[in-house]
Amino acid sequence: MAEQRAGRVVSRRSERIQDAVPFRMMFGFRMHSGYAERRLEPGVLDLTFGDPHEMQMPEYVEALRSAAVPEDELWFAYKQSERPAQDAAAASLERVVRLGWTGDDLRMTTGGFGAITVAMKVLADPGDEVVYTLPPWFLYEPLALEAGLAPVKVRAAEPSFDLDLGGIASALTPRTRIVVVNSPNNPTGRIYPPELLLGLAGLLAEASARFGHRIWIVSDEPYNRIVFFGNEFHSPAEFYPHTLVCYSYGKTLLAPGQRLGYIAVPPGLEGRDEVLEAVDMMQIAAGWLFPNAVMQHATPALEKLTLDVAALEAKRDRLVGAMREIGYEVAVPDGTFYLWPRSPLPDDEAFVADLSRRGVFVMPGALFETPGWFRICLTATAETIEAAIPHLRDAFEAARKLRHGGVVEADSGQIP
Ligand code: PMP
Repeated sequence: MAEQRAGRVVSRRSERIQDAVPFRMMFGFRMHSGYAERRLEPGVLDLTFGDPHEMQMPEYVEALRSAAVPEDELWFAYKQSERPAQDAAAASLERVVRLGWTGDDLRMTTGGFGAITVAMKVLADPGDEVVYTLPPWFLYEPLALEAGLAPVKVRAAEPSFDLDLGGIASALTPRTRIVVVNSPNNPTGRIYPPELLLGLAGLLAEASARFGHRIWIVSDEPYNRIVFFGNEFHSPAEFYPHTLVCYSYGKTLLAPGQRLGYIAVPPGLEGRDEVLEAVDMMQIAAGWLFPNAVMQHATPALEKLTLDVAALEAKRDRLVGAMREIGYEVAVPDGTFYLWPRSPLPDDEAFVADLSRRGVFVMPGALFETPGWFRICLTATAETIEAAIPHLRDAFEAARKLRHGGVVEADSGQIP
């Protein structure tokens, strides 16, 4: 029937999702950069995705191994949110965001993806708007489209990449239901300061009153434990109770293929039970978005583990130092495992293509709808990062020559 209607096989919704900016860009990136074929070649330096580059911690493997041994006949039965997992997760969330969380406030999900998708579907109806900041985690758009929501994008204030409260205020309409906040931020590494979150809370409280319905924050905080020395993380939930916290263990444990996360509803929030009940049903209806039984049995043991943040910080310092010495403009990230330097060519895709010809893969800012910048992922080994530095130097010099040769259009002044 669909074919007869418009000459296509798949639904309009599928087409809209396939057409989302990040999917188009990601497809282009994988196709044209040679990334798909070359990423595993010897000598290729892969600084793209937040994947592990070293063998997993033995304690992690042991936690899964023992969780896979059944203790009763229901060990592998259908699992929604398992109480020991919820309790362990709540105790550790309480160490990061002190709001008196208990296991009752949390529902276990298939990572951050599951948490965000459930939050969007529970809080907003098709046709409603969801506001988020550019550069974003690039999959907000497809998740929003799948939920039938209209993405409304507000550019962050450059070069701090803080939330632009004025921009957010003017993006709010009577159809706005959700503002997504991602701190520590992927890709910029920025942790939003408390004053900014307080400002956002005031703005949303005022707009909610004006529109006669609540605008919620979906706080996407999978990096809330990857915070570098001297920085402090604050969740929007501390300032604005109508916040759903979405967490993933994929970052702290550097095991994103093992799907585990949660959605948390602040204790004491009016209407909390209603939201939690809706979350429970939505997790089922959206396709059983609960982590599998083994991951939930393992959660209390996994909660004791974390990646080596000090080692990550050492890689950050080495690379930021080296890149600044070369001449790159790059901020020191407050948290996460990303660097977000300015591209020495205004055309970040051309610059990233040049780096890839030199055997170094990074992500163009265009993928994050923010041309002129690029993302480097620090989950690569220290050796890989060290080996990438001479290529980053050569690519920078080549960009400088290209620009001075007048081949590239005048820039925004980033090249000395
Ligand atoms: N939010 C952000 C900001 C992310 O960076 C990611 C993963 N890259 C996710 C959510 C999803 O995390 P997961 O794959 O662990 O569900």
